[in-house]
Amino acid sequence: MSDDCIFCAIADGDIPGRIVHETDTTLAFLDANPLAPGHTLVIPKAHHERLNDTPPELAADVMTALREVTIAVEAAVDADASNVAFNNGEAAGQEVPHLHGHVIPRFENDGGHPIHAIAGDTPDFDDDELDAIAADVEAEL
Ligand code: 5GP
Ligand code: ZN
Repeated sequence: MSDDCIFCAIADGDIPGRIVHETDTTLAFLDANPLAPGHTLVIPKAHHERLNDTPPELAADVMTALREVTIAVEAAVDADASNVAFNNGEAAGQEVPHLHGHVIPRFENDGGHPIHAIAGDTPDFDDDELDAIAADVEAEL
């Protein structure tokens, strides 16, 4: 529990949420400002700000819950597909600093965009630059 965290307050039952799924470690509830019918958030009950600081087993629990919720939400609102994504950090658009995965139902010709639309100016790398970036990432793992 983190003081002043709205999602911790929902997880603790201190403020109401339209809860649709719960496990020992995760909770899913409707987004209060949905981008589509059935827009749902999946959180770990424990307060972790980003995927980066979430323990691996808990991150796996969130992924498992995301999968189950995605299947249920698509069925409930008769969606054709969904975007399942995290805004992972403030610079990426994260406004609530408690890890949450979005399940956003999508419909044929709904006027939305693929996840590629989130980027600003896109870079244009040559093969050598891509090789160098891949090597840098691999070295961090
Ligand atoms: P973010 O930009 O942090 O990835 O997304 C935060 C999401 O949380 C937004 O889609 C917003 O509508 C939702 N949200 C913010 N406050 C509340 C709340 O009190 N209850 C619920 N159910 N959703 C909230
Ligand atoms: Zn929290």
